[in-house]
Amino acid sequence: MSHEQVLKRKLLAVFAHPDDESFICGGTLAKYAAEGVEITLVSATKGDMGRRMGNPPYLNRETMAAAREQELREACDCLGIGRLIFFGLRDKTVEFADEELLIGRIEALIREVEPDVVLTFHERYGGHPDHCAIGKAATEAFRRSADKGALFFITFGDALKHPEHFGYTAKDVVRVDVQAHNAAKLAAFRAHRCQTEIDEWVWQPDKAALSRFGKYEYFLKGDVNAPLRASDNLF
Ligand SMILES: [Zn+2]
Repeated sequence: MSHEQVLKRKLLAVFAHPDDESFICGGTLAKYAAEGVEITLVSATKGDMGRRMGNPPYLNRETMAAAREQELREACDCLGIGRLIFFGLRDKTVEFADEELLIGRIEALIREVEPDVVLTFHERYGGHPDHCAIGKAATEAFRRSADKGALFFITFGDALKHPEHFGYTAKDVVRVDVQAHNAAKLAAFRAHRCQTEIDEWVWQPDKAALSRFGKYEYFLKGDVNAPLRASDNLF
């Protein structure tokens, strides 16, 4: 094994739906992929219960899973995500899945990948029952299996710009500068076509569309015992 392989940094993202990765933290994933970080993405479902069926609608419940799988593959290419795993759960049912089974699958993946960073949803602040359920399982899997690495929870938009509003301090938050990677994020938004074609701004000329993105994405530290990191870097 070469020196370079030994030092290879790895990130495992465990999310619920195709588009979570792009819409929530696409800039960060693109940034680390561009730096050579090996990224593995889990999407628990194929988003087959999504309410957006294209604009004008051209998908139905039967065709949606395949379309969204293909869109996620394209988004992964845009962001530089090298490995994509579907858990095959039905959309909107993650909270009803066998929790031990789900934890076990994520735990096995953590042992196999040995990620330096695990990204998932906070079990209470995930914003959607599927998000909270997969986040809770991933958090437990991390606690059981990770003897290295750090756990981070995604946050939405600029919410944690003022962490004190949520009972946190600046020490609990990592702020990643994604300005240089918002173009890749926009390409990923466009790859998720059936979800974004109703959003006119996504399809405006690049400069106008890019102006909608924030300069930073924020993450909440998931394990207080992890070694201290810089306030602007997940690694
Ligand atoms: Zn989602």
